[in-house]
Amino acid sequence: SLKNKVALITGSTSGIGLGIARALAKEGATIVLNGLGDPAAIEQTRAALAAEFGVKTYFIGADLTQAAAVAAMIQEVESTCGQLDILVNNAGMQHVSPIEDFPPEKYDLIIALNLSAAFHAIRLAVPGMKQRNWGRIINIASAHALVASPFKSAYVASKHAILGLTKTVALEVAEHGITVNAICPGYVMTPLVEKQIPDTAKARGISEEEVIRDVLLYAQSTKKFVEVEELGSLAVFLCSDGARSMTGVALPVDGGWTAH
Ligand code: NAD
Repeated sequence: SLKNKVALITGSTSGIGLGIARALAKEGATIVLNGLGDPAAIEQTRAALAAEFGVKTYFIGADLTQAAAVAAMIQEVESTCGQLDILVNNAGMQHVSPIEDFPPEKYDLIIALNLSAAFHAIRLAVPGMKQRNWGRIINIASAHALVASPFKSAYVASKHAILGLTKTVALEVAEHGITVNAICPGYVMTPLVEKQIPDTAKARGISEEEVIRDVLLYAQSTKKFVEVEELGSLAVFLCSDGARSMTGVALPVDGGWTAH
């Protein structure tokens, strides 16, 4: 059980982050949500989570492309909840474009959100975890942390890089009861994936149906999208005592994609 633990899941107002927040709430953790979106819809999500699982829930609407906002978020969690035990760096964005047309400002934003936000959150969360001699840091990377696909230069670079960050911090904090791991999902049908289908169709000159069949699920041998509940289960396991010696690893949940 994760009662008495406080979990911050970044980018948890939808998709994978919300799925992981639900799984940790089910184990009794206090949940801090983060993300962007319609305030009324987010408040509804937050209140529903508290009601369904009987846990305390909070929301911090920090824009994590800003380093100062990441810092303020970690400080707010520690001052409001008294501690931060489980940090899930999940907020991320994608942009699909050939390298020669890739907007440099999109590249900077993707690196800021997918990589640098995790660096800042981790560096500020580690001191408290060390003090309590317990911590779990889970970085939501991607199958694209292990293999590439064309037209996703910024995303693939950011996801490969976060594995380096994961391994490095794992070594630094290993003697303090803190583990640091990366989950590498294959394709999950979330807003992030839905949004890239038209752009991928354009970049490759094929239909949207062909994108799903011949691009997204081409290497995912199960021929099924991964479900957010599967990633929630793995996150819960990584937070358990049974996973205390698992650290610095990248765990694919990708229907066989990276086995090719
Ligand atoms: P999503 O678009 O459904 O959710 C993204 C979340 O991040 C939302 O809560 C959004 O509000 C938040 N967010 C976006 N910009 C933000 C910002 N500047 N500051 C704070 N929060 C921000 O996406 P998802 O598919 O659930 O993706 C979550 C993570 O999983 C990402 O890191 C993504 O790269 C990774 N991932 C997704 C897939 C997939 O197939 N969906 C596969 C592998 C990895």
